[in-house]
Amino acid sequence: MMIMQHSFVEFIPDQLHEGILYISIDYCTAIHLCVCGCRNKVVTPFSPTDWKMTFDGKSISLYPSIGNWNFDCQSHYWIKKGNVEWSGSWSDDQISNGRQADIVAKEKYYTPKPEKKLLIEENKKKSLWDWFMESLKL
Ligand SMILES: [Zn+2]
Repeated sequence: MMIMQHSFVEFIPDQLHEGILYISIDYCTAIHLCVCGCRNKVVTPFSPTDWKMTFDGKSISLYPSIGNWNFDCQSHYWIKKGNVEWSGSWSDDQISNGRQADIVAKEKYYTPKPEKKLLIEENKKKSLWDWFMESLKL
């Protein structure tokens, strides 16, 4: 099994070494060289709709898996507790479904719910009005 070491860094170094996951908490991102040996740089940003990192004090896990569909190697693997676990390659359908799910998740996350926004505006109006009425009473 392949080992993935980790290195917490402030800035991502220019020279990356294979088998090391460089993690920048400041920039909420990690980068590593594709584990197949093709030396492509794989960037895994951390956000509620991208990757999540688990650090148990010794080793790093990333969720979800890393699918390098944009590279020739098309490698797909998990980083679990500092180990690289190969995953089966996806069919084109699975890739496009995955991308679609990602887009939907992002839209859900970043688009404010219109009902909520209206409610806030309504509340604001009300509280301004209340304030106005109260100021009249004084
Ligand atoms: Zn590769």
